[in-house]
Amino acid sequence: MNSLQKLKVLGESAKYDLCNYADPNFETYASGKMLGVYNSTAPDGRCIPLFKVLMTNKCSNDCKYCVNRSGRKCERFEYTPQELSNLFLNYFNRRYVEGLFLSSGISGDINTSMEKEVEVARILRDYGYDGYIHLKILPGTSYDLIKSAMHLADRVSINMEAATPDGFEELTSTKNYNIDILRRMKWISKLAKRDPAMAPSGQTTQFIIGATDENDEEILGMTKNLYDKLELKRSYFSAFSPLEDTPLEKHDIPHPKRTSRLYQADFLLNSYGFDLDELVFDENGNIDTQIDPKYSFALNNMDLFPTEINEASYDELIRVPGIGKISAKRIITLRKRGKRFEKLEELQELGVAVKRAEPFIKLNKSYQATLGF
Ligand code: SF4
Repeated sequence: MNSLQKLKVLGESAKYDLCNYADPNFETYASGKMLGVYNSTAPDGRCIPLFKVLMTNKCSNDCKYCVNRSGRKCERFEYTPQELSNLFLNYFNRRYVEGLFLSSGISGDINTSMEKEVEVARILRDYGYDGYIHLKILPGTSYDLIKSAMHLADRVSINMEAATPDGFEELTSTKNYNIDILRRMKWISKLAKRDPAMAPSGQTTQFIIGATDENDEEILGMTKNLYDKLELKRSYFSAFSPLEDTPLEKHDIPHPKRTSRLYQADFLLNSYGFDLDELVFDENGNIDTQIDPKYSFALNNMDLFPTEINEASYDELIRVPGIGKISAKRIITLRKRGKRFEKLEELQELGVAVKRAEPFIKLNKSYQATLGF
């Protein structure tokens, strides 16, 4: 079996590890549909093609949702570190990809499997490759190996999969939430604080949405905690999709818009500085799949509106539907130069989605529109 034949399975299996929040379903292959090439959102927000692949799809764990779980009937393959490094460099030198995202099943011993990932990164750095490397840290990896991985990689991640220990236990009997996942994430955070050159693009994580009964409030509560306490850079939300020959093959799939709404709400928490209690949850703890969470916040807090554009603080401006961070900054900058806004067109020129913002703003004390109720 040659490297490209293995890639058919090990590149395809890697699609379950997300690295692109612009496409919350599994990322499409980049142009040309090349095996192992996925569009990805880089840490600086650019969309770049990554070589995304597993070292092996052999795994001794029993995660109920996973294509690679032990006992599931499928062909199993494994790369050697040298073989995978050569394959990646072949893609990179032909400019098919701009970086590597490497994950792995756990073939026997956790640290032996993780060491192979680290070895790939080491071979590439020794070769002189100084581009982007994202290493997936396997649950339960030793402190020393995490350290080695962080010395070599730009970014590392551990998949949390669930937001609570109970939810996690529903999904697997072979991993421990607090020890194998959370403790490792804390180590990563401490190591990065001690030496910012280690995994300088930080750590990320991924949740499976809809495989357990966990609600959006639990999931977003956990992500908010991770942003605040462990300096998590990003959470990815993977919509559960049932696979044949797994214990969850008959499990329902989540609402098609649920992950997109979670991304929007998560963005408000992580990037806009919203508190969890500003988000609107229904009696089951879920956000409305039909409405943008920021719009939902505004409708639920009409006493805070309309916002006078000529007087509002930055935090007040970014809470108005239709006003993003960039347009809020532009408004403040122009106001500091003496500008007073009088017409919607002036806001439109700054990037404000005026139709959306109109019912929630005042310009020079005059209301722009009402919601009609
Ligand atoms: S440890 Fe990873 S590869 Fe193994 S069964 Fe669980 S999710 Fe799948």
